[in-house]
Amino acid sequence: MKNQLFIDGTYCDAASGEVFDVIDPSDRQVFAQVARGGADDIDRAVGAARRAFDTGPWPRMSGSERGAVLRRMGDTIAARRDDLARLEVQDNGKPLPEANWDIDDTAGVFHFYADLAARLDNSAEQDIPLAMEGFTSKAVKEPVGVAGAIIPWNFPMLMASWKVAPALAAGCTVVLKPSELTPLTALELGEIANEAGLPPGALNIVPGFGPEAGQPLTEHPGVDKLAFTGSVPTGSQIMATAARDIKTVSLELGGKSPLVVFADTPIDEAVEWIMFGIFWNQGEVCSATSRVLIEEPIYEPLLARLAEEARKIRIGHGLDDGVLLGPLVSPSQHEKVLAAIERGKTEGRLVSGGGVPEGLEHGCYVQPTIFADMAEDAWIWREEIFGPVVCVKPFTTEDEAIRMANDSRFGLAAAVMSADLDRAERVARAFRAGIVWINCSQPTFTEAPWGGTKQSGIGRELGEWGLNNYLEIKQITAYD
Ligand code: NAD
Repeated sequence: MKNQLFIDGTYCDAASGEVFDVIDPSDRQVFAQVARGGADDIDRAVGAARRAFDTGPWPRMSGSERGAVLRRMGDTIAARRDDLARLEVQDNGKPLPEANWDIDDTAGVFHFYADLAARLDNSAEQDIPLAMEGFTSKAVKEPVGVAGAIIPWNFPMLMASWKVAPALAAGCTVVLKPSELTPLTALELGEIANEAGLPPGALNIVPGFGPEAGQPLTEHPGVDKLAFTGSVPTGSQIMATAARDIKTVSLELGGKSPLVVFADTPIDEAVEWIMFGIFWNQGEVCSATSRVLIEEPIYEPLLARLAEEARKIRIGHGLDDGVLLGPLVSPSQHEKVLAAIERGKTEGRLVSGGGVPEGLEHGCYVQPTIFADMAEDAWIWREEIFGPVVCVKPFTTEDEAIRMANDSRFGLAAAVMSADLDRAERVARAFRAGIVWINCSQPTFTEAPWGGTKQSGIGRELGEWGLNNYLEIKQITAYD
């Protein structure tokens, strides 16, 4: 297990010599200590990334050469899937099958951007036809420079890959700050990068707390671009800080995503997608189906089925067979979600769950919880809880469903279920959200753009859009 900073191709201690505890949320015990990065370490890491960008080989290699390194990184991640997934379970709490998906996806993201890097060799230049004779012009794509990447704890290694892989594919160099709650799998990327032949300084990893390591990274004048995933308040602070030096910023923030279920939806399918939508990864998912709108004729029967299914969910240690819901990531997240549930009890009808499961008091466990019939201005209907808590309301007309779905400061994801595909398409178009699902919820594809509208963020990750985040467009015009 790697527990030091990774700077300029080498694992090292923090300048302060300090470490911080990493807790296993299944029993609240400290299972690792990790070097506690601070401003001096960020300065060293940005210095290494700056040198690697300004004078090192990485941005000067062809896209195919960079792609070959990224492909080897993806291969190593795939080969080490078992130990990385188990480390993710210990660090984050999620069930092993979900950790396995995450690591498979992480390898897939490196492979996908390996291909896009290679394609840049032919697509990085575009001739521009000019109206005036005597001049020729072309647009060329170039790496933005040094990218600072700050990520959350809900998909620790996958979130790292969503930033590191496209940034490296573009030819940028990177300083990654993982979440203080789950730094361990991201730290493994250092060794994986070295084995794959990534030049020193192209990737640097500085674990630490937000104000101690994240803030100095945001403020550092040597950083050209900031890519952040996390909460709205932190995103807003990062954007304000970045404004000072006019750094490019992309933000993937929170959500309170609706799923609208029309009465012609087969009830078993609705149950399946709602349960998955809110309870996978303990509901600690930015795009989680946290608001469900059900058409009146099937409202009570569907609600009853959801309650029945929620009670059947096996809760327990992420490594135990058949477990679908592990502990929340940390004692503080546990407290936060339990407080939200208590507030929900004063605002809506508790249909299922509502507390800590019996016999699991030693860990950060929460029952899958369903609330119904809250007012539209209720706090639990409007605010992101980031836990296994879903709010359900009825609707009578399509217009009412769209209005309620869109009545949120967030606009990350939305979903609609109906046997009438024309209606589903119409509602999908009416949603104000960056990601919309029809007759499903949550499937995420590396090829497709990911990101939100309104306070859910700025910019898109994944697909070719993810690569464009790390590319600058330059115009070169010549007089013949
Ligand atoms: P957070 O904002 O508390 O922390 C995210 C990261 O920012 C962490 O690494 C943290 O150390 C760092 N940070 C904290 N304060 C900072 C500061 N002042 N300057 C710089 N960095 C700082 O969020 P979290 O609790 O880790 O994650 C949960 C949030 O992330 C939720 O709101 C969730 O919706 C969102 N999220 C969004 C997406 C998406 O793709 N849109 C994906 C995952 C999570």
